[in-house]
Amino acid sequence: MRMKEEEIRKRDVFNKYLELVENDVKDLFEFNSFIETNCPACDNNDYNYEFVKIGFKYVSCNICATLFVNPRPSFESLKEFYSNSESTSFWINDFFKPVAEVRREKIFKPRAEHISRLIVNGKNNVIGDIGAGFGLFLEELKRLLPDNHFIAIEPSRDMAEICGKKGFEVLDRCLENIEDMENRFDYLTVFELTEHLFNPGLFFNDIFKLLKPGGYVLLTTLNVYGFDMQTLWEKSKSIFPPHHLNFFNPKSISLLLNSSGFNIKEIETPGQLDVDIIEGMVKGEGFDAGRFCNLLINEGSPKAKNELQTWIRRNLFSSHMRVLGQKSY
Ligand SMILES: [Zn+2]
Repeated sequence: MRMKEEEIRKRDVFNKYLELVENDVKDLFEFNSFIETNCPACDNNDYNYEFVKIGFKYVSCNICATLFVNPRPSFESLKEFYSNSESTSFWINDFFKPVAEVRREKIFKPRAEHISRLIVNGKNNVIGDIGAGFGLFLEELKRLLPDNHFIAIEPSRDMAEICGKKGFEVLDRCLENIEDMENRFDYLTVFELTEHLFNPGLFFNDIFKLLKPGGYVLLTTLNVYGFDMQTLWEKSKSIFPPHHLNFFNPKSISLLLNSSGFNIKEIETPGQLDVDIIEGMVKGEGFDAGRFCNLLINEGSPKAKNELQTWIRRNLFSSHMRVLGQKSY
């Protein structure tokens, strides 16, 4: 069953949310205190200016083509933004909750099915979900693999409480504040979080420590080589600060994981939405996607669009990327 953008991300609600983010940014961030950084993937400081979005400057790495915000707000100010801003509570209550059950069906169930196939020995594994949210993914995974131990890692107190009520062991803090858990996990999952991080390198170093030798990290993140991102570029709604700071590509995410000690076992772009997102922008917001894309959107058959999306997915050009890394023994 194909997924549509409107089902999991209502256009008008999402646009309202983006407005709130813009207001929060004005209230909560001091642009002159932002921190200069090297490329979050390859650590070089050779980059080109791309564009500014609500005051945040995006640059592209000339070595590995990662797109990233530079300079960027400090870790502390980002934490403050995520815990206390109006837009965050709107996201939870008005954006996420109404579509939570659709997202369970369309996103979390397939995710759980995918990872359950990776878990060869389906018993007695310690499986942690970093940024567990309301625990939807863990619930679905537990249904498929009941004889394992599940841990929700979720720094937001409200969401951590919900995970606790669902019966999961909960670590209600950020990764760097987790102590005495080294070499404990068989699997750690990180869905749509890497793009938000102030320092992805340190984050994956922490994951490496928490995993047992031979343990796996499975992550999903945005792929800057993705069809909709390349087509829309600064108009892309996936590029919104201060949330999304890092946009890797298949090569640069590999560099990042390698430098934390992981071997890459698999990189895929299983996204289904690229063409649909372009269609929404062309038809709903008058975006000019270039002659051919405009033609395809307006005159192409559903079959043509589906086939294009399949090609995009298979050739690592979807903006939704999934990576499996293994900690060496
Ligand atoms: Zn780079």
